[in-house]
Amino acid sequence: MADKVPLLAQSTCAYCGVGCGVDIQLENGQAKAIKGSEDHPANFGRLCVKGSHLLDTIDLSGRLLTPQIDNTPCDWPTAVDHVADKLARTIEQYGPESVAFYVSGQLLTEDYYVANKLMKGYLGSANIDTNSRLCMSSAVASYTMALGEDVVPCDYQDLEQTDLLIMVGSNAAWTHPVLYQRIERAKQLNPDFKIVVIDPRRTFTSDIADHFLQIKPGSDAAFFNGLLCYLANNDGLDQQFLLRHTDDAEAAITAASEWTIDKVASYCQVPADSLTDIYKTFCQVDKAVTFYSMGINQSSSGVEKCLAIINCHLASGKIGKPGSGPFSITGQPNAMGGREVGGMANQLTAHLSLTDSAHTAAVQSFWQSPTIASKPGAKAVDLFQKMANGEIKFVWIMATNPMVSLPNRALVEQALSRCETVVVSDCNEHTDTMDFATVKLPATSWLEKDGTVTNAQRTISRQRGVHSPAGAAKHDWQIVSDVAQKMGFSGFDYQSPHQVFVEYAQLTGVAQQFNRVLDLSPLASLSTSQYQTMKPVQWPLNGQRPFANGKFSTSNGKAKLFAITPKAPVQQTTQALPFVLNSGRVRDQWHTMTRTGKADKLGLHQTQPEVMMHPFDAEQKGLSQGELVRVSNDLGHVIAPLNVSNTVRVGELFMAIHWNQQFASHANVSQLYQDVVDPISGQPESKHAPVAISAH
Ligand code: SF4
Repeated sequence: MADKVPLLAQSTCAYCGVGCGVDIQLENGQAKAIKGSEDHPANFGRLCVKGSHLLDTIDLSGRLLTPQIDNTPCDWPTAVDHVADKLARTIEQYGPESVAFYVSGQLLTEDYYVANKLMKGYLGSANIDTNSRLCMSSAVASYTMALGEDVVPCDYQDLEQTDLLIMVGSNAAWTHPVLYQRIERAKQLNPDFKIVVIDPRRTFTSDIADHFLQIKPGSDAAFFNGLLCYLANNDGLDQQFLLRHTDDAEAAITAASEWTIDKVASYCQVPADSLTDIYKTFCQVDKAVTFYSMGINQSSSGVEKCLAIINCHLASGKIGKPGSGPFSITGQPNAMGGREVGGMANQLTAHLSLTDSAHTAAVQSFWQSPTIASKPGAKAVDLFQKMANGEIKFVWIMATNPMVSLPNRALVEQALSRCETVVVSDCNEHTDTMDFATVKLPATSWLEKDGTVTNAQRTISRQRGVHSPAGAAKHDWQIVSDVAQKMGFSGFDYQSPHQVFVEYAQLTGVAQQFNRVLDLSPLASLSTSQYQTMKPVQWPLNGQRPFANGKFSTSNGKAKLFAITPKAPVQQTTQALPFVLNSGRVRDQWHTMTRTGKADKLGLHQTQPEVMMHPFDAEQKGLSQGELVRVSNDLGHVIAPLNVSNTVRVGELFMAIHWNQQFASHANVSQLYQDVVDPISGQPESKHAPVAISAH
């Protein structure tokens, strides 16, 4: 009897950090239809428009199907030999700090793990960073500083169970639509559920708000200092919690004490009576969640903004309980999985530290590796600066398009032009970045990749390889393993993502000697078939809420509050550059459009780039709706039609981040941002560039 052909595969959406489960209906092994998985805890059957059109993006047009060296096709052994040889020679000639990997939240956890193992355990450098640096690294740094470990202490149910939800720096209605739908539904079911939306721009998300604060860009830390001040003055502190479970509360409260309501109202340019109402509500309710995203993180003081939020939750004891906590929402499908395996230049696998010799020794011993990085590597922007100044000679870019997404495009171009070897693994043959590749490696795409991802609420889900790899495409973990083995390194003899996953899960068990919340060691015993059929699982695996017992991951078990002094953005307007340029997403596109750009229906929502400008400013400048305008500063210019809209503040402009060379190279907005970063997290300030605007 012939083998039964499966009719359904369960996988995970390729886009945002909500991490929705998808049911893929198969016909003769080929995907024919897609819908949300009813039993997935992220979405319970829902999908947004991007997820619903995933199958429109899987055709082979534009796929890279064979390896290429200097634009000449070759076979895999030749390509692997070449990359291994270039890596070894570069290290031999210039040392381990002369090589770098720049990876992506689009990679699966298994890919991320193997790439980090090679760089940190075998090449001896920590120069591996990720495009997640642009997304939530400020949140990561602040969780680690305040709670002792990069643990998001909330889950999606908290958003439905809370009394008060403060959404700040997030247009979730467009960026995390399924989560927003859950919030909308909770609000319908519970009229007492209060929602505050804080954003310089009036977005669809603000439609749901009881209070919408159209805040001055960059002033968020003052809002939360004001909240802490109000809590201290109005019996809103949880003194028992502060005493038993925190350190340094007094310094934080003292620093916040000058932030009276009047001062915050003036600094943030919002009404004082709204502040009074919001602060009073936070003080009175039992449960409150602060939900934040890129609007907080993408700042030259992003870490301090995140810490100001966490301060309020620690001070009021609204953390570690149902319906409460500081909830950073990740942008990408596997930003969280990357964080778990030490996917950033300042992290080590399993939530361990590169700067703690006991941690590095434990990881090296587990890996049996010849070396181990003992200091943080270059973070994303720094990494490209080092390429541009000639310190880094070899870069391997995996599944990301930094020419469009990183700030200061001219710097990125200089960096890639100056590198002696630029390896790019991608499923696409042509991207703005691929044009600079000396070696092009065909990687599998979403429906072919097989492994795991972790969403914003710490739920690990399987992404399943439904289709066979197209052409000669290989999985990223396989490509990295092949190069590692070619370099003579043992420890990379993986035959499947299952083998990688159980090794990583074992390592989280080793990390328990350092008291980590992340512990996947029970999953290390999964058989191949158990891994294949694995259902979504949230960590901690014991079902306990992180920090529910008031014990944090710091050395003394206490969380730490920080004294915060709000800072203005570094990139300030001038007489010649009088407008602030903000950036973000549109509803139906993703990142640099290399995937969503293939789905015609997703292009219908917004067919072209646009510059949003307040009617007052448009009148002052003599500009009219639909007119082509030029937005410029010292770094370059973009050209797009004007959308006159009172959703933006006077003196501010807004543009979407997505447009690549294929769709509108004249509208690549990231080129107008300086390579200015938060000094702790290294996250670029991608929401606040000074620009001029004129008719084109
Ligand atoms: Fe995919 Fe995010 Fe939409 Fe869910 S909400 S379907 S994960 S893009």
